[in-house]
Amino acid sequence: MKCQRKEENLEKCNCSYPGCPRKGICCLCISHHKEKDQLPACYFSDKVEKSYDRSIKNFVENYDR
Ligand code: SF4
Repeated sequence: MKCQRKEENLEKCNCSYPGCPRKGICCLCISHHKEKDQLPACYFSDKVEKSYDRSIKNFVENYDR
């Protein structure tokens, strides 16, 4: 089934990882990272996201709101 919100999701997606087939398909993105005890790019600032360290530890260490 094709994601009907992919284009809309991509407008908000900050993931800079090239070539990911899940980009813009948030349900696949979340389940992929959840399996690895990680969070998707959108939980991180643009700067931290670019490290590609999606660990919960990295999220906690860099959380700043
Ligand atoms: S956060 Fe991970 S799964 Fe989601 S688009 Fe980026 S690389 Fe792909």
